[in-house]
This record gives sequence, C-alpha cells and structure tokens, in this order.
Amino acid sequence: MLRLEELLLPSIADVTVSSVDVNVEEVRIEAQGTVAGSDCPGCGGCLRRIRSSYLCFPADVPSGGRRVVLCLRVRRFLCPVISCGRRTFAEQLPGLTRRYGRRTERLRSTPAAIGLALAGRAGARLASVFGVSVSRSTVLRLVEALPDPEVPALRVVGAHEYATRKGRHYGTVLVDVQSRRPVDLLPDREASSLAAWLAKWPGVEVVCRDRALFFAEVAAAGAPKAVQVADRWHLWHNLSEAAERCVADRCRCLQVLASDPAQRVPPSRRSPKISPARPGRGDTASSTAPA
Ligand SMILES: [Zn+2]
Repeated sequence: MLRLEELLLPSIADVTVSSVDVNVEEVRIEAQGTVAGSDCPGCGGCLRRIRSSYLCFPADVPSGGRRVVLCLRVRRFLCPVISCGRRTFAEQLPGLTRRYGRRTERLRSTPAAIGLALAGRAGARLASVFGVSVSRSTVLRLVEALPDPEVPALRVVGAHEYATRKGRHYGTVLVDVQSRRPVDLLPDREASSLAAWLAKWPGVEVVCRDRALFFAEVAAAGAPKAVQVADRWHLWHNLSEAAERCVADRCRCLQVLASDPAQRVPPSRRSPKISPARPGRGDTASSTAPA
C-alpha cells in the first residue's frame, strides 16, 4: 500500500505526513521530520537534544490545480558545545527545505528550469500557467542561484568579446570549442583577466580567437604552449570583405561589360548589386595559422 509520504513527498527521506486536508481550493499537508538528531552547522556534531519546535509554511508546488499549503513542524536543536558559535539551530529536511528558504526545493527547481529555457519575463508567464506564481525578478534570481555546471578538462578554447553596451562596455566569453558550450564570462576584456583565466587551465592546447592583436598577445602570455588558430567565422568574414572590396575596385570593368550588348548577361544570371566596401575589422594581426 502506498504511503502518504511516498505519494505527496516522493524522494524526501525521513519525513512523515500526519494529516492531509483537501478542499476545493487547497491541499493542506501537515508533516515533520523523523530523524532522531541533526548535524550542527557550527561544529558539525550530531545533536539529539531538542530545545523547541515551531510551524513553518514554505510555499510548495500546486497539486491538481489546487494550492498546496505545507505545514511543517520544525524542531530546534540545542548545541551543548561551549566553543560552538551556534547555540540553537533549526533542522532542515534535505530535498525539501533549506536555511532561510521560503519555498520548497521543488518549487525552486521548477521556475529555475523554466527560467533557464525562457529567461525572466516569458518564464514567469509560463510558470503562472502551471500554477506557480513568481515574478520575473524571482525567476532570474533562482537561475542565478543555481550552482555552476561542472566544466570538463578544456583542450580547445575559444576567446571572443561580447558587448553588454555596444561601443561602451565589452566583456570576454570563453567557449569550449569541442562541446560548443560557453564555459565562462569575464566582465571585461582586460589582458590581465584573460591571461589569469588561461593560466588556470594548463591543459589548453589550442586557443581559437579572432585576429585582433589583443587576443594574440594575451593568448601567448596566458597559454604560451597553446597553438593559436583563427576562428572560422572571422576567416569567412574577412575573406568575404576582401572579395567585396576587390569586386568594388573593379566596378568600372563590369560597367564596360554591361554597356556592351554582345557581353550583356541575361537578367537571370546577373550577380547581386555590389555595394561599396566598408573598412575591414580585425585585420591587424597576422601571427595566426588558419584552423
Ligand atoms: Zn555546535
């Protein structure tokens, strides 16, 4: 027979549900922990001496369209260690509550997962469809509170700039080229910041970058043993700009051909109109080897 704990609080260990009250609008669950003792966050000792208890009401995910009110009986333990800075502390139920948290862990993880996919405003709108009422600021705050994902050993790193305010403020984005995932963001594009970051990853063998002289110097300082290669996008970008300039410089030859009826090209085979070339970007460095 399925127990209430398994039905209402699955994957939460050491908790018992004493009563469940269901009405049209809400589900009221009364529960409490069952572990005999708890580890003191100050000294780490396992304590069994209970000083008091109180009720708390962390917000929980809705069930079947009904609001869930979780009435949790929390015990407060007394630490007898004189040298410990914590005299008393409240128990926490792993997987359900956290210190100073006003919502259950599953209510944190739901809007956080939505926020990862949709960000703040759209994430808050979709969460409300599921009955989770959160503001867009809360969605962003929950996403920011997520732990950083584990970064595997890096071998090929891409370093590029990004703009938070175009023309005014730039940062640096570091990408794992093999998995095509960003691994870190630096708040600036200072040489010292990037060189220090590269120095933390001695296993980097290849630095993929654009052709700006800044990145060449920094990569040589931070990862002197790494091979520097130009990234594909900038190679194609520079090549297309050079081809555009070349054709624009010879525009008069094309006009002569176009004025000669014998050399006129049928409309279906004409090239698109060539616009005057703009000054190229990132043409300064030349110490790279194409990827
Ligand atoms: Zn203690």
